[in-house]
Order: sequence, then C-alpha cells, then structure tokens
Amino acid sequence: MQRAIFTEEQQVFRDMVRDFFTREIAPQQSAWEHAGAPPADFFKRVAELGIMGIQIPEVYGGAGESTYKFNAIVTEEAVRAGLQIGSLRTHLDMALSYLLAYADAEQKQRWLPRFVAGDLIAAIAMTEPGTGSDLAGVRTTGTRADGGYVINGSKTFITGAVNATHILTVVRTSPLEADGDRRSGLSLIAVETDRPGYSRGRLLEKIGMKAQDTSEIFFDDVWVPEENLLGEEGRAFAYLSHNLAQERLSIAVNAQAAARFALDTTLAYVRGRTVFGQPLAALQNTKFELADCATDVEAGQAFVDRALDDHDAGVLDPADAAKLKLFCTQMQGRVVDRCLQLHGGYGYMLEYPIARLYTDARVTRIYGGSSEVLKSVISKSLLRAAEAGEQ
Ligand SMILES: Cc1cc2nc3c(=O)[nH]c(=O)nc-3n(C[C@H](O)[C@H](O)[C@H](O)COP(=O)(O)OP(=O)(O)OC[C@H]3O[C@@H](n4cnc5c(N)ncnc54)[C@H](O)[C@@H]3O)c2cc1C
Repeated sequence: MQRAIFTEEQQVFRDMVRDFFTREIAPQQSAWEHAGAPPADFFKRVAELGIMGIQIPEVYGGAGESTYKFNAIVTEEAVRAGLQIGSLRTHLDMALSYLLAYADAEQKQRWLPRFVAGDLIAAIAMTEPGTGSDLAGVRTTGTRADGGYVINGSKTFITGAVNATHILTVVRTSPLEADGDRRSGLSLIAVETDRPGYSRGRLLEKIGMKAQDTSEIFFDDVWVPEENLLGEEGRAFAYLSHNLAQERLSIAVNAQAAARFALDTTLAYVRGRTVFGQPLAALQNTKFELADCATDVEAGQAFVDRALDDHDAGVLDPADAAKLKLFCTQMQGRVVDRCLQLHGGYGYMLEYPIARLYTDARVTRIYGGSSEVLKSVISKSLLRAAEAGEQ
C-alpha cells in the first residue's frame, strides 16, 4: 500500500538521509560493532547535515519544524541501511523533547545552539539496578547544597552514555514517604559528564544491537547548579509520562521498519535459494509464510502512519501509543522469526541481515515500557472509558 503521509520536502530529506547512511555510515558498522558504540564524529556529521536542528526553533539555529516525521524518516532509513543508531534516537527522539518542553529560556539559550551543532549530546537515565518498570522506585538522590544539588547513586542500561555530554537524570529530591504518593519527589536534572564524581562503568554486553552502547553510570557526590534542573522540582514523573507517547512511537517506527526490512531481505533470499530442484519461493509454505508476514507489515504500517499523523496533530494519547508499541513490537518479533525460519541455517549466521534483525528485535518488547506494562496501561484506559460511559 502507498504511504501518503509525507510531503515532497520530506521525500527529498529521505533521499538525502538514505544516501548518507548507505554510502557513508553502513561501511563503518562493523567498526562500530567492534567498539560497541558509534564514534563521536558520527554526531558531528549528523549535525552538519542539519538533522540535529530540525525540531529546534530558528532562534537557536534550528529549522523550527514541529513535525516528528523527519525523525521517523531517520529511523526508517537507518533500519533499511542495516544500522543501529539507538544513541542518536535517544538524543533526538527522547532527550530533545524534554529540552524543548521543560527547559527555561536561559537553559534553551545555553543548550540548544550546541545541540544543533552536534556539540551537546544527551542521554536519558531513568533505570537503576534495583528499578526499571517501577520508575517511582528510583533511589538516586539529589540533595540541595550550595545553590545546587549533590547527586548520589547509579543508573544502568543507559543508551548513548559513551558519547553523551549531558545525562538527563531522574533523581529523588525529596524522600519517599511510607504512606505518600510514590510518584512525587522525583526531579529531572541535566548532569554534564565532565563533572567531578560522575563516571561511566563498563559497556554492557548485549545479545544484539552491538553497534550501540549500553552502560552503567555512577554519581558520587556530583554537584550540579540548580540552573540544571529541568522544569519544576518534584515533577519528573509527570514529565516522563507526558513524553512516553513519543518514546513509544519512536520504538514502534523502528520495529515496523525492521519488520519490513526482514520481509524484503527474505523475499530476495527465497527467490535465490534452490531446494529440491526448485526455488524456495515456489513452495506453498514459503508463499503462505510471506503472505502472512506481508499482511502483518501492512497492518503495522497503517497503524504507524496514523499515529505519526495523530502525534503531529497533538492527539496521540498515551494509551494509543501503548497499543501501537505493543502491536508493532510483537508483530516485529513474529515477522522476523518467521523470516529467519525461511532462511534455514543461513538465518542463524550473522553475515545474513536476518540474523541481526532477530537478535536486535528481542529488546523492543522490553524497553520503553515492557509489553506487560503496556497491557496494564491499555486495560486501565479501557476500564476508565467504560466507567465514564456508564455515568
Ligand atoms: C538495550 C537497552 C537499552 C536501554 N536504554 C535505556 C536508557 O537509555 N535509559 C534508561 O533509563 N533505561 C534504559 N533501558 C532500561 C529499560 O527501559 C528497562 O530495562 C525496562 O524499563 C524494564 O525494566 P527492568 O529491566 O528493570 O525490568 P523489570 O521492571 O524488573 O521487569 C521484569 C519483568 O517484570 C514485568 N513487569 C514489571 N512490572 C510489571 C507489572 N506492573 N505488571 C506485569 N508485569 C510487570 C516486566 O514486563 C518484565 O517482564 C534500556 C534497556 C535495554 C535492555
């Protein structure tokens, strides 16, 4: 089915990004995998192409676009080129939305021109060794001192910490009251990674996404000025909940693009492989498997495109974003698994793109809200709507 959601300008942008990724970045992927992270100059090149500033207001040097579709194009083209650019997606799709929504005028002046230039790279640190899905359980503390906060604690699974200059860190700025609201008392503070007491631990070894870095980070009496607090003290839970819709949309766009790529690469494979004297593509089972996968991919695309339009219009609500991520990531898992099966033993070999798609796919049902957490968000909204309907 034709996609009708992109403008001509966005199509031109897609061609530019496709050329950049396939000609310049794809040849570097094995070096990135070896290093476990992209090099710092990748972010500078992305900035030179104007990609960092697309959503940043012109007054700070950006292009002032409000649509999210350029970001979606970057993700889709990265997947198509076989790249893992999770740290760029965290920076552009997630961190930037916090800066745009909650930074005050002075902070925007301080941070956004550097963001546009690729000199400020941001990561987001919510998860801790003791708490992931249950964000209210954050134990890293920010204690007021000397006109700022002293931060102590540790975070884990942090994407992009290798190149980050700023970590948007969720800290507890007032103690957890035994009978109080567990969601209150959390704040979002930007921590520069060159501050004394900040350190990055080892690169965590993952089963997939090997070209993007995932690290532990530590805060040992790290002092930051109060000018680094984003928004109001104690309001981080609300800010994080608000931004989850875009985070989930971003993961869904990536999952959808990966499912499509899996189907495309499998179509090429089954046409070239001969079994029992005939092309693998000629077997009825192959045709049925491909038909099921193609149907799944089209359904996912329609859902993603509708969500992209809704998000631009400001009407993608958290429960719909949860449904979208749940469907697209489960569909990605189904399609990639079936496509790998059609490759036989070659599907298990990393030289075939389907093998990487398989190991990369598993995490999308875990991060950014696990499937179980999403189901609970969706069911709560169903019950709320049913109760409201009865009143
Ligand atoms: C590759 C990778 C990159 C990541 N990048 C980042 C990052 O940049 N920044 C960051 O802050 N975090 C990051 N994360 C962390 C990620 O968001 C968490 O792993 C995720 O939120 C799940 O938390 P957890 O791992 O602690 O699992 P847990 O919360 O311990 O969950 C364990 C199991 O319990 C289930 N469960 C939990 N709560 C419920 C419930 N209420 N009902 C039913 N089942 C439930 C879960 O679904 C899961 O199956 C990353 C993780 C990975 C693997």
